Amino acid sequence: MILKSIKNFFRKKTAIRQKKRTSSTNTLGQHYDLKSIYDFLNDSYFENKLNLEITWFGSAERQARRHRKLGLFCFHSNQIKIHRLLDRPLFPPYFISYVVYHEMLHSVCPPVKAKKGRFRIHHADFKAREKEFAEYGNAKRWEQENKKLFFSR
Ligand SMILES: [Zn+2]
Repeated sequence: MILKSIKNFFRKKTAIRQKKRTSSTNTLGQHYDLKSIYDFLNDSYFENKLNLEITWFGSAERQARRHRKLGLFCFHSNQIKIHRLLDRPLFPPYFISYVVYHEMLHSVCPPVKAKKGRFRIHHADFKAREKEFAEYGNAKRWEQENKKLFFSR
């Protein structure tokens, strides 16, 4: 979930809107507060050792269309971005927590170099740590059963 091209895509799309904000980060949504989710996960899984920024990105009204990047982590700025699409009550708390946990994990499980200089992002270590999330099974099952929510058609 950290592909640079997709990040740039969103940066262009949201550049104009973000200029109007006084702050570059915004954690309080209509239904979910990213900061409280982040703080809970940091305490539960990372011994409060992570020092990352977290913010919403994208639009709640517009669906994610052809892509379904619900979360991003930028190593350069140590910032997690969560798509506003998730800021709705139909997305269960354990699912949004899973998306935030996944992005937090990127900060402690960096990509590893594989063959031909390519990087593996979701490598075996990452996947093993991901399964430590208490509601991993529920979140994956819910994601599978509700895939259509991430697409506009
Ligand atoms: Zn990822």
